[in-house]
Amino acid sequence: MKFSWKNLLLWSLPIIVISFFLWQGLFAPIANENKTNLTNSRMTYGRFLEYIEMGWVKKVDIYDNGHTAVIEAIGPEIGNRMQKIRVELPASAPELITKLKKNYIDLDAHPTKNNTALWSLLGNLFFPLLLVTSLTLLFRRSNNATGGPGQAMSFGKSKALFQIEAKTGIIFDDVAGIDEAKEEFEEIVTFLKKPEYFTAVGAKIPKGVLLVGPPGTGKTLLAKAIAGEANVPFFSISGSEFVEMFVGVGASRVRDLFKKAKENAPCIIFIDEIDAVGRQRGTGVGGGNDEREQTLNQLLTEMDGFEGNTGIIVVAATNRADILDSALLRPGRFDRQVNVDIPDFKGRLDILNVHAKNKKIDTNVSLSIIARRTPGFSGADLANLLNEAAILTARERKNQITLKEIDKAIDRIIAGMEGTALIDSKSKRLIAYHEIGHAIVGTLLKDHENVQKVTLIPRGQARGLTWFTPSEDQSLISRSQIKARIMGALGGRAAEEIVFGESEITTGASNDLQQVTSMARQMVTRFGMSTIGPMSLENEDSNPFLGRGMGNNNEYSDEIAIKIDSQIKLIVDECHKKTRDIIKNNRVIIDKLVDLLIEKETIDGNEFANIIKQYTKVPQKI
Ligand code: ADP
Ligand code: ZN
Repeated sequence: MKFSWKNLLLWSLPIIVISFFLWQGLFAPIANENKTNLTNSRMTYGRFLEYIEMGWVKKVDIYDNGHTAVIEAIGPEIGNRMQKIRVELPASAPELITKLKKNYIDLDAHPTKNNTALWSLLGNLFFPLLLVTSLTLLFRRSNNATGGPGQAMSFGKSKALFQIEAKTGIIFDDVAGIDEAKEEFEEIVTFLKKPEYFTAVGAKIPKGVLLVGPPGTGKTLLAKAIAGEANVPFFSISGSEFVEMFVGVGASRVRDLFKKAKENAPCIIFIDEIDAVGRQRGTGVGGGNDEREQTLNQLLTEMDGFEGNTGIIVVAATNRADILDSALLRPGRFDRQVNVDIPDFKGRLDILNVHAKNKKIDTNVSLSIIARRTPGFSGADLANLLNEAAILTARERKNQITLKEIDKAIDRIIAGMEGTALIDSKSKRLIAYHEIGHAIVGTLLKDHENVQKVTLIPRGQARGLTWFTPSEDQSLISRSQIKARIMGALGGRAAEEIVFGESEITTGASNDLQQVTSMARQMVTRFGMSTIGPMSLENEDSNPFLGRGMGNNNEYSDEIAIKIDSQIKLIVDECHKKTRDIIKNNRVIIDKLVDLLIEKETIDGNEFANIIKQYTKVPQKI
């Protein structure tokens, strides 16, 4: 069939007419309602207010006569990237405008009328236009003898496919705390800079490096640093972006990516979240995913298709290497694997030093104390911590970050937003007894971590909090240390029981009890710390979220299962009894501490320990 405009019209006119009515009937109402739906991410109004408080909101656009806002924000929950998020506003929100003003946030309101007209006009035109365009493309293609099947669905081409940075500007000095991974990568920079050293002796340059580690540990940063050090361009794409609606789009993106990369070699290709495409083929709930498998196959083809010495190095990142398709890990593909872990004390200190460089920090602040207080923080958490502290400092119009802001920022990151304390009431007393219960048990047991502070100021979900100084070495924990932790966790509930009576105990201990049960269970099933004997009865990675019975591949009999349960109960009962004894025996000092806590709302660890020492011997023999 030869292409002609007459032909095109003949074919497309009825379709346009039908689809126009379809569009009007089906889509237009939705389109009109959702005219402000510029983004798919949503957030509750309450969370939005918290984001404002934290200084994470940069801009607010109000639509729909004040019913909807689209905000631009940056925050740890949304990957520390600037994102547009939609918020439904309550019917009357007078405090919002004042809040926005107070925080100097850019606010803009958009009238609804013109928008509606414009949107419905665009809506009405959009579908027919799309149809004509795609029909034209189809006709073109069928007239074009060279157009292979690969071009049938080249929608993928019209999108922004991947990010290119000519110069990342990141150097190895910007990356800290992950020295082994860095060393590995320094060699790769030499590959890129002086390939002849390697080719001269017949060595093949690696094509792919897989970075494995939890989020925020600096994998992207490291990949950018190679590009920056070798002074080559950086191409990046995220695996999750491949999972698209149209089959074939992912594959065509991979093709385009490698094509562009080859034109720009030497260069780095970075594939973030490779597990989104690289999961083992033919697995997953609901069968395989065609699109994903095609994308993966294309990736494998591309990696095989270029010679090792062209100067392209593909760096991929994942936090789960175990679920990757084994084909990806074969020689000539991602045959180098580099682990990037959550930093230890020294690592955290190094990372803090990197991020403290461009900040004004009071000379009294010791970064090593911060590093000590933050076990489990990733590099991104630490960067975020210093940034939060800087924001708090700026908000108070101070010109240097002090320990106070840093402390606040740490608490915020660990336990969430600070609320306001309750006014004096029965529940405030109950919470005070609960927290002092944790704190006193923790202080009197010699195997328990020290109390860092006790507070009645709520944070996140918690209505009061007792903080303990975390010990650095969490790798070997003794039986008596676990028991001390169980007793510490039971301290809150035990205090409620003894002071207020069995019938007054509250739901406030639910989180504590979860921890208690999980610790006791692990003592029995994983650490061999019960009379069942030194046996491992549960796999470390049996999924804690599925509950027992599902996804559970433990191989013990029902008889053992009953024993496990009774051993767990035995441990918890014994700890509970001892904890109650501690509370009973120290009732006088507990009452005093509660009065002090209600008056001051926060008692710091040293003060707490000093008061206890005046009244009783620490640690007591329990
Ligand atoms: P990942 O890719 O592992 O999720 P990123 O590389 O995106 O983590 O880290 C996010 C940010 O956190 C970085 O831009 C950097 O500011 C900070 N960061 C993370 N790890 C480190 C590190 N090891 N050294 C210095 N900064 C780090
Ligand atoms: Zn508690």
